[in-house]
Amino acid sequence: MSTLHAVMNRSDVRGLLIRHTGAHASEDVVSAWESGLAGYSLAECHRAFVALGPAARRATPSEIAGRCDAARDRDTGEPTPVQSAASPRATSRDYYRQAGMLGIRAVYAAMGWKRNPDHDLARSVACPFCKARAWAVCGPLSRNRAGVREMRDPVHRMHPSRLRRAQTELERANATPEQETTR
Ligand SMILES: [Zn+2]
Repeated sequence: MSTLHAVMNRSDVRGLLIRHTGAHASEDVVSAWESGLAGYSLAECHRAFVALGPAARRATPSEIAGRCDAARDRDTGEPTPVQSAASPRATSRDYYRQAGMLGIRAVYAAMGWKRNPDHDLARSVACPFCKARAWAVCGPLSRNRAGVREMRDPVHRMHPSRLRRAQTELERANATPEQETTR
């Protein structure tokens, strides 16, 4: 379907939020979701919200983006309309997802969510300690094969080195916005 990767505009994003979270979305919230879901189509995001069921009301941009990615991975059997653009688009998607994390604290505050923003930030990368994949939660491992000990953080429930990695990547993404700097 040719509209699969059509980009959402601001009113699409607002409509998604009103429909699926049932909340009145302030401009800050819409902006944060708009950047967090940049590169995903309305149809993809709609399906991701629907798949969450009642949990959709508490969904975060990173959660929806992760579900869209998972759905794209599952769809590899179907021909992708813009195959040649896949690589730059993936880079751009990663960048926007990182940028979206910047606004996430504003979203949590505005929506009154009790979830921990560090938890979602840490989930955006793979865990260097327990090797949990991006978007998967950390396992209960407290000592790895190298004999290194690391307990999961009691607040965000991820291994601290994973959060540090996510923060480093976020800082790097902000320091060097998507550009060709090697010349
Ligand atoms: Zn871990």
